[in-house]
Amino acid sequence: MPTALAAKELLKENVPVRKSVPEMADAHCHIESFSMDVVRASVEQGVSVIIANGVDTASNIKTLAMCDGKNVFAALGVHPEYAGMPDEEIERNIRLIKDNRKSVVAVGEIGIDVTYAKTAEALERQKLIFSRFVGLAVELGLPVCVHSRGAMEEVFGILKEHGATKVQLHFFEGDESQALEAERRGYMISVPPMESGKRKRAIKAVSMRSLLAETDSPVNGAVPRDVEKSIRIIASAKGVPFEEAASVLTQNTRRFFNIGVASLMR
Ligand SMILES: [Zn+2]
Repeated sequence: MPTALAAKELLKENVPVRKSVPEMADAHCHIESFSMDVVRASVEQGVSVIIANGVDTASNIKTLAMCDGKNVFAALGVHPEYAGMPDEEIERNIRLIKDNRKSVVAVGEIGIDVTYAKTAEALERQKLIFSRFVGLAVELGLPVCVHSRGAMEEVFGILKEHGATKVQLHFFEGDESQALEAERRGYMISVPPMESGKRKRAIKAVSMRSLLAETDSPVNGAVPRDVEKSIRIIASAKGVPFEEAASVLTQNTRRFFNIGVASLMR
């Protein structure tokens, strides 16, 4: 006969141990090409906050429809790749954001990308559209999700012109000194699941409070669940346990996108 204590131990052994998954947040991805099942699977696997970005008219409409305001939140904007869309369509997207102000947690994805600008005029157009949406975000009191490729200084300039302070530098590509300048301005450095020595130095330079983890899925990570890799990159650069990094980064995401307040407003 086992003693009471031994029986308890035996019982413990027979109970399947569910490995507890820390809460995670994906601060930037695109869900319009996913089925809702794929999105729900990431939520069930611990990604309790997903910031889904629209890039053009169709994706803004679809993203908005797929967001539940509980785990999946919409950021709407016009990506620099689509800055060439007609003015009326730009206005239509601005109206969509204004009309859905209570369901939208940020203006994005917006920005400047030199690889999509084949001519000087195309680059000017990107800057104009970016400036328009930054102004809209400031007017509505929303944060911005910024895409910058080969345009960090121009991006910094336009953000400053508008006095934008709630800024996520998505897929951060800058160096250490640009990361420090961003932090000084109160911007957030958003880290994708892709390792780079330059980005690691930037992560080390700023405080944990200035960091966000993202997948940019399906472009970089495959699904929002892959944010675990971005968190691991940050945890290793900072020399902190994964669980601690996951917890701080989730809090940063909630704070930055004002998620508690947005849920209450609904
Ligand atoms: Zn993106």
